[in-house]
Amino acid sequence: MSHTRKRLVMGNWKMHGSFAANAALLDELVAEAPQAGDAEVAVCAPFPYLAQLQGTLAGSPISWGAQDVSIHTQGAYTGEVSAGMLADFGCTWVLCGHSERRALHGETSDQVAAKAATALAAGLTPVVCVGETLDDRDGDQVECVIGDQLEPVLALGTEALGRLVIAYEPVWAIGTGRTATPEQAQAVHAFIRQSLTQQGAGQVRILYGGSVKAGNAASLFAQPDIDGALVGGASLVAQEFLNIAAA
Ligand code: PEP
Repeated sequence: MSHTRKRLVMGNWKMHGSFAANAALLDELVAEAPQAGDAEVAVCAPFPYLAQLQGTLAGSPISWGAQDVSIHTQGAYTGEVSAGMLADFGCTWVLCGHSERRALHGETSDQVAAKAATALAAGLTPVVCVGETLDDRDGDQVECVIGDQLEPVLALGTEALGRLVIAYEPVWAIGTGRTATPEQAQAVHAFIRQSLTQQGAGQVRILYGGSVKAGNAASLFAQPDIDGALVGGASLVAQEFLNIAAA
């Protein structure tokens, strides 16, 4: 099996961390990253700690990103952070439309696509998250739901698609310890790949997320359309995260 797309393993710290805890985690990641194999490794932290990542990860093979971005470029948007601000000090990635933001902050797929567009305009790489709930899956609505979530993103066009990453994260597998089987994940990744290919963007990297651990990463990565992982809980433990990257 040929896997031409460079694998990407990205940690999502969510709202975890402290200056001291991050320092310990990052030091271990930096020291051991060269042994993590050929995968590209990245971490996405809460906004206040991005400067810490910038300083600690400078010169290391690990890149870093934010977990959200404003749709707006500047103005009276108290509490928001623009893509330009993130780009200003060297941020590479930004998660757009993580399921927790869709569920807890009411982000719509149109808004998620607008965030991705804003990020691209500032030179960042958006990681656009999509995924179905358990009800969607039980109701046989997976492709319908993922298709709807993807639609405004696909409308950004071939050039934009070529510069972003998609993460498939079934909501029922996030933080639950319940991972999609490699076959379940591959089926949805193939559907996403087909949708991207129809837009001339078949080489976009598609990450899987949802209770990925060192013990299940290899079987997921063996699937032809899984190009890496978006890792929540396990990204807070350096050795576990690096073992996923090495898988
Ligand atoms: C996530 O936060 O994107 C995620 C997949 O979380 P976990 O790995 O903890 O399920």
